[in-house]
Amino acid sequence: MKVRVQGRLGISLLGATGSIGETARRVIARHPDRFRIVAMTANRDRAKLAAAAVEWPEARLGLVEPGADPIPSQWCGGRACLVAAATDPDAHIVLNAIVGAAGLEATLAAVGVGKRVALANKESLVVGGALVERAVKAGGGEIIPVDSEHSALLQCLTGRIGGPGPGLHPVQGVRRMVITASGGPFRTWDAARIAAATREDALKHPTWAMGRKITVDSATLVNKALEVIEAHVLFGIPYDRIEVVVHPQSIVHSMVEFDDGSVLAQLGVPSMELPVLYALSHPDRVADAGVPRFDPVASSPLTFEPVRHEAFPALALGVAAGRTGGAAPAVFNAANEVAVSRFLDGSLPFGAIPASIDRALDRLGGMAGKDLSSLLAADAAARSLVQEYR
Ligand code: NDP
Ligand code: MG
Repeated sequence: MKVRVQGRLGISLLGATGSIGETARRVIARHPDRFRIVAMTANRDRAKLAAAAVEWPEARLGLVEPGADPIPSQWCGGRACLVAAATDPDAHIVLNAIVGAAGLEATLAAVGVGKRVALANKESLVVGGALVERAVKAGGGEIIPVDSEHSALLQCLTGRIGGPGPGLHPVQGVRRMVITASGGPFRTWDAARIAAATREDALKHPTWAMGRKITVDSATLVNKALEVIEAHVLFGIPYDRIEVVVHPQSIVHSMVEFDDGSVLAQLGVPSMELPVLYALSHPDRVADAGVPRFDPVASSPLTFEPVRHEAFPALALGVAAGRTGGAAPAVFNAANEVAVSRFLDGSLPFGAIPASIDRALDRLGGMAGKDLSSLLAADAAARSLVQEYR
């Protein structure tokens, strides 16, 4: 079925072939009167991108790694296609669903020309938070988070955002933010068993179906560290007022405690459909029948547990990197990206993921990170260090 395209908000979808990319195409297709896709990119999955293009025949297409076969003449090839799609004049919103630090340049480019970025690519804010803030100020764009926890925080904060404080969405009257974590597949495992976990073990997430990298990040709790840094950059809230709590059912997506002690939470069945739609429609809510209905009785009981830091050292490593600032978060992220990819290809055990991140931060965490080129240098140094890690 062809989706009806009318003069509505144009969306450029980066990472259109991934897990969030697919969810986004489904959500957008339900609202043809409001949205249309004007551009889509993928890394190298040409067949999936071509299949998505059947639904959106007018979308411009970009493939970062086109391979040896020539791509159709109307497609764009190479890394430049990401910035081209991020700055497409027909796009009002850029939905960045690229995985990894590879998404940073497109985020910077989009906010730099005044676009809204619906941001799933949390690595953009972890690696280049200060740069993104500067680009938002200079270009007049904005970042609306797609990550479910940050979407929840933003929804709880409605009416409390603004003012002169730090962050992309300076908050007022907030005492504390509580970010929930499912705990991942190893929530109840002891440290020795976790260190020897297999790829199959790590890819079995209890509550969310996602891409492979974020699924492994959820098993190490690296994902939660990335999210703490993301919350700090988005809302300008100091690290000592951000807490993480384990909530195995993934129903409460996060909470905000206000100065008077009141705590607001956002709840729902674990599904990325709502956070994707909300990032497109914020601050409005759009009537939508696709999000699974929440049944409080069926979802009971809702439970909360402390994080077992001794079993999941990567969380504290990442938060410490966030506090250090400079290039440390970029080093944390790059070391993790390489460690995860080596774990997935069988050349590193699970336990070496936090160990190799620790080593990279130890050696490189003090590198400067004041501009894009120094951040990219730190990123590259961390990648080669972990590539050699034994
Ligand atoms: P996937 O691995 O499923 O998809 C990644 C997408 O990015 C694919 O379209 C892929 O193209 C493309 N891509 C990969 N590498 C590059 C590159 N170097 N340059 C350009 N494009 C690239 O990931 P997810 O959809 O799971 O995650 C995407 C982002 O969203 C991540 O930052 C993740 O942390 C975040 N997120 C995801 C959630 C989820 O539920 N999945 C929830 C919250 C946040 P190709 O298919 O050709 O490889
Ligand atoms: Mg999340």
